[in-house]
Amino acid sequence: MIGFDLTKEQLECQKMAREFAEKEIKPYAAELDKRPETAFDWNIVRRFAKANLLGLNVPKEYGGLGVDMMTAVIVAEEIGAACLGIMSAAAGNWLATTCLKHVGTENQKRRYLTRCCGGNALLAALAVTEAEAGSDMAGIKTLAVRNGDHYILNGTKIFITNAGLANFYIVFATSDPKKRHSGLNAFIVDGDSPGLTLGAVEDKIGLRASQVGTLIFKDVKVPVENLLGAENTGFLIAMQTLDMSRPCLGGAGVGVSRAAYEIALSYARERKQYGRPIIENQAISFMLADMAIEIEAARLLTWKAAWLIDQGMDSTKASSMCKVFSTEMAERVCSRAIQILGAHGYTRDWPVEKYYRDAKAMAIYEGTNQIQRMIIASML
Ligand SMILES: Cc1cc2nc3c(=O)[nH]c(=O)nc-3n(C[C@H](O)[C@H](O)[C@H](O)COP(=O)(O)OP(=O)(O)OC[C@H]3O[C@@H](n4cnc5c(N)ncnc54)[C@H](O)[C@@H]3O)c2cc1C
Repeated sequence: MIGFDLTKEQLECQKMAREFAEKEIKPYAAELDKRPETAFDWNIVRRFAKANLLGLNVPKEYGGLGVDMMTAVIVAEEIGAACLGIMSAAAGNWLATTCLKHVGTENQKRRYLTRCCGGNALLAALAVTEAEAGSDMAGIKTLAVRNGDHYILNGTKIFITNAGLANFYIVFATSDPKKRHSGLNAFIVDGDSPGLTLGAVEDKIGLRASQVGTLIFKDVKVPVENLLGAENTGFLIAMQTLDMSRPCLGGAGVGVSRAAYEIALSYARERKQYGRPIIENQAISFMLADMAIEIEAARLLTWKAAWLIDQGMDSTKASSMCKVFSTEMAERVCSRAIQILGAHGYTRDWPVEKYYRDAKAMAIYEGTNQIQRMIIASML
C-alpha cells in the first residue's frame, strides 16, 4: 500500500513547522548571514526549544515531540526553506538524539535525551571528524583508554557543529588505532568535562549562523556508564545513526530548493525584458519546470527513505540516494535561481546566493556524496 497523503498529525506538524520557520527563523536569516563573524545566536536556540523542536525525534516519554521519520523530514523541509544555517544547531541535536535513542541504555536516555527537550532544552552534538579521519572514519586517532571505572580520552575533533555550545557530545574514539573500524567506541561526554576545550571556530562560506569548530580532549575522564552500546561497536553505531539522519538532509535540500524556486518563479513573472515577462521565454519557463521536477523527485526519494525507516526496514541505500540527489539538486536549483534573477541574483540583496552557499555544505557533511555513491554502488 503506497499513498502520499499525510496523516492528520503530520499535517499539523507541517503547519506548526511552517509557521515557526516563517515567524521565528526567516526574519533573522539574512542578518545572521551577513555578520562578519560566525553568528550563532542563542535566542534562536531558545525559540527552537520553546517549540520543542530540539527534541523533535525524542520519544514523548523523555519529553520530546516523538515524531516519526516521515514527520521529521517534513519539518526539515519547512525549516530548511527558512534558513539552513540556523537549522544546523537543531540538526546537531537531531544527530545526537538519533544516536542516543537507538543505542542508549534507559539510564543514558533518562539522563541525556531529556536535556534536549522542552523549553529549557540544551544543545548536543556528534563528534566524529578528525584531521586524518574525514571520510575514512576508521582513521580516528582520538584515544579512549580504560582506567578503572573511567575511560580517559585524548585527541582532537574538527569541523564539529555546535562545538563549544553543546551540553553533551557523542564522541567517537578508538581503543587502538591499529584496529581501525573494530576498535571504535562511542561515548557520551559532558560539555563541561575538565580537559575538554573549544579550539578554532571555522570561518565558513555558508551556514554562517551555525558554529562549527574544533574540540580538544586532554585527559578527559568519561565514566564507563557513558559508553554507548557494546564495546568496539562504534563504527556500526555511527553508520546506523547516519542512515537514520540522512533523510532529514534530503528534506532540508528540498526546503532550500523550494525557497529558491519560489523566488525565481515570482521574479520571472514580474521581470519584463523585450516588453514581456521573462517567464514567457521558453528558456526561462523550462528552467523553472526542471526545478519543479527535481524538487518533486527529491521529495519523493526523501519520503521513501523516511517511510522505510518508519516501517523498520533497511534504509541504507535509500538514505544515501536521497542525500545525494536532494543535496546536489539543491545546488542546481539554487544556481538556476541565481541565473533567473540575473545580476540581482548575484547580490546579497536577494537570498538566493545565500541559499546556494548554504546548500553546498550538504554535499560534504554526514558523509560526502562521493562516499554515498560508494555505499550505493556496493549495494547494487
Ligand atoms: C558545515 C559542516 C559541518 C560539519 N559538522 C560535522 C559534525 O557535526 N560532526 C562531525 O563529526 N563532522 C562534521 N563535519 C565534517 C564532515 O563530516 C567531513 O568534512 C566529511 O566527512 C568529509 O571529510 P573531509 O572534509 O576530511 O574530506 P575528505 O575525506 O578528505 O575528502 C576530500 C574529498 O575526497 C573525496 N573522497 C575521500 N575518500 C574518497 C574515496 N575513497 N573515493 C572517492 N572520493 C573520496 C571526498 O568525497 C571529498 O570530495 C562538518 C563539515 C561541514 C562542512
